[in-house]
Amino acid sequence: MKSVALHTLGCKLNYSETSTLAKQFEAKGMKLGQYGEKTDVFVLNTCSVTDNADRECRQIIRSVLRKNPDTYVIVTGCYAQLQPEEIAHIEGVDLILGSKEKLRLFDYLENFDPASPSCIFKEQGSKIFVSGLDEVNSEVSAAYSADIDSRTRAFLKIQDGCDYSCTFCTIPLARGGSRSLPLDTVLDNAKKIVDAGYREIILTGVNTGDYRYFDEESKTTKKLIDVLYGLDKIGVERVRISSIEPNLLSDEIISLVKSSERFCRHFHIPLQSGDPEVLKLMKRRYNTGLYRNLIMKLNSEIPDAGIGVDVIIGFPGESDEYFRNTADFLDGLNISYLHVFSYSERKNTPAAGFADKVDIRTRRNRSEILRNISAKKRYDFYSRYIGTRQKVLFETSVVNVDGKEYMEGWTSNYIRVRTRLNTALQNKIAEVELKNLSGIGPVDCEL
Ligand code: SF4
Repeated sequence: MKSVALHTLGCKLNYSETSTLAKQFEAKGMKLGQYGEKTDVFVLNTCSVTDNADRECRQIIRSVLRKNPDTYVIVTGCYAQLQPEEIAHIEGVDLILGSKEKLRLFDYLENFDPASPSCIFKEQGSKIFVSGLDEVNSEVSAAYSADIDSRTRAFLKIQDGCDYSCTFCTIPLARGGSRSLPLDTVLDNAKKIVDAGYREIILTGVNTGDYRYFDEESKTTKKLIDVLYGLDKIGVERVRISSIEPNLLSDEIISLVKSSERFCRHFHIPLQSGDPEVLKLMKRRYNTGLYRNLIMKLNSEIPDAGIGVDVIIGFPGESDEYFRNTADFLDGLNISYLHVFSYSERKNTPAAGFADKVDIRTRRNRSEILRNISAKKRYDFYSRYIGTRQKVLFETSVVNVDGKEYMEGWTSNYIRVRTRLNTALQNKIAEVELKNLSGIGPVDCEL
């Protein structure tokens, strides 16, 4: 039996799509191998959020080809959509597929015979199939059920693309405008995930909060809240909204999360900058006032909610004063952790041409300052729950520490927890007492 290994870089949406590709290969009779193993076919689903992401893609392709020069290499994803020629220059790449082509991979593998992948056309040089943005915009393909940790939590794609035009962002160029899957398709896929034994669904999209689907039958536009109401009815144990823009997190969504145990008390809300001027330069659709009020509302409505924040440092024009404003703004919010990104110039984005670039060393220093704030926030947040009882979804993977076997899981409000391996609890939601906190690692717990 021929084998394939798939590897993903970037966002949760990419992970859900890779999982769908893996299923397609399995349906064709191929064995799934691990990334790093010698396989007949290798698929890389790329990201292009920063220069580093692009570099990492190239390094991975080269390293796979060094170890296994005969593997059939397929590269897809945002980097493939945006810079196919750069990838084609790497000798040994066989097929490059853009965003629209990604989930139709087998349409591009002529005469595919799993017994002999070499009959997948193997011409001189790599083959590129990358549609222009107009075509990318014309459809949205379903993807669901990524094995994040062996059948415990699954990503469910509900939306793709983005209509916003944040000046630093390359995603609309790679994935096109905002499109949403029909509500029925979303709920059908959710049912399949539940039937397959997953306990938690993580809703994903490029701009998940912008879910909008016009339902011909009822002549109404379905929104994210309708997806949540639908999921509430189908018996999935836990639903987590992966990330949502602050201007799209409505009172209705907050009330639903507050009132139903099914929805995780966890919000990941991009801020990007805490300085009003930088936010304007970024063309974000909210100001710091809206953001602060939203966090305060969450703090009062759902006091135990875990709140994660994305922030970009080193955006052009971010002076020392503007950076200080961001650090102070974040310091003053009752949030639980930050994801800190260093600004990276992306081709064809407005910000790449902005003046007052921030030098790389300053970007590094600022990043370090915010990472320290993040560590403190996470420590404070975790500390609040020591001694309390929380429901944890335990994963199936086993973690070895100093010769002892542990298993780990997440609380609803996104605290990482661990306990000694107890196979009866794997892929189960169990109530435990949070015991000891060491640094920002997982919290020890007891039944
Ligand atoms: S909201 Fe802005 S940052 Fe997010 S995907 Fe859309 S354009 Fe990019």
